[in-house]
Amino acid sequence: MDNTASSIPSKMKAWVYSEHGKPVDVLKLDSNYDVPQLKEDQVLIKVVAAALNPVDFKRMLGMFVHSDSPLPSVPGYDVAGVVLKVGSQVRTLKEGDEVYGNINEKGLDRPKRSGTLAEYTVAEENLLALKPKNLGFIEAAAIPLAIGTAYEGLQKTALSPGKSILVLRGAGGVGTMVIQLAKHVFGASKVAATSSSAKLELLKSLGADLAIDYTKDNFEDLPEKFDVIYDAIGQSERAVKAIKEGGKVVTIEPVGELAEPAFRFILTSSGAMLETLNAFLENGKVKPVIDPRGTFAFSQTPQAFSYLETGRVTGKLVIHPI
Ligand code: NDP
Repeated sequence: MDNTASSIPSKMKAWVYSEHGKPVDVLKLDSNYDVPQLKEDQVLIKVVAAALNPVDFKRMLGMFVHSDSPLPSVPGYDVAGVVLKVGSQVRTLKEGDEVYGNINEKGLDRPKRSGTLAEYTVAEENLLALKPKNLGFIEAAAIPLAIGTAYEGLQKTALSPGKSILVLRGAGGVGTMVIQLAKHVFGASKVAATSSSAKLELLKSLGADLAIDYTKDNFEDLPEKFDVIYDAIGQSERAVKAIKEGGKVVTIEPVGELAEPAFRFILTSSGAMLETLNAFLENGKVKPVIDPRGTFAFSQTPQAFSYLETGRVTGKLVIHPI
């Protein structure tokens, strides 16, 4: 395909939903969807790969209607692709740059109506970073939302060298990043994480010193207590029983009760944060984790969502090629 700015079409293929419901029911492939208009501070991206996140199907199901953008909408937060055109206020990025990022600044607040599950998307320059040099587009697409959530959450808990951490849901998109960042970026002295039996070895390979099989052990009944618990599942009531005196519990599950002193946050996308982490991605200390069945053709996007909805995905699912 000729991807120069002069060849940008006005219509594109995109997965679109016009009503709330299960992705397999409401997601339709539109071959004639408008290519999004570029604002001054944005770049137009030829999407090469896009990753799925639970927020995409939760939003489709209608769980966040209070912060929805008007339908019809194209889902998709994570992208890796090539800059085709830049807005007049764009300072750093230029045509031809290979970029990646989460295109929605606020995790739950009125996402772009033209998301990443399409041939083209737009994003503000400050939400993007240059793709790590050692990674392909599929691997890069698997990173932004998950690593951003992991990094921001760990910052909020003030995890620092010498502290211990327990990661609940260690094998998910976010958990696989939390384990790696806790160990290799924040310098935790001990990293523990939970998964079912078949995924314990993966947790260890990512840097977990202790892998807890949640089908056999209740983490809060173990004698060991932790300085920090990163709760990616919504189990704050149990988590607060497993912290040391003065310990912190951060939960990212967006709904449900919170037990004190647990706190919750919703991520903010940041290109600068990705640039900071590029060093750890490029030296191989932190790696994207993609499910063994994890790359789906664009035409198989609804099937990929069905798999994500099972809650059993290891790491990330990526749609490629687009
Ligand atoms: P995933 O869909 O990637 O998680 C799937 C993993 O969850 C599977 O590997 C599964 O492993 C594991 N899992 C399921 N049940 C349990 C359990 N009881 N204990 C331990 N592990 C379990 O999810 P994400 O990591 O992408 O997201 C996690 C949650 O965080 C979602 O609810 C998402 O909406 C939310 N989120 C919130 C954000 C925020 O800003 N607040 C940002 C990003 C995500 P196994 O098969 O071994 O059970």
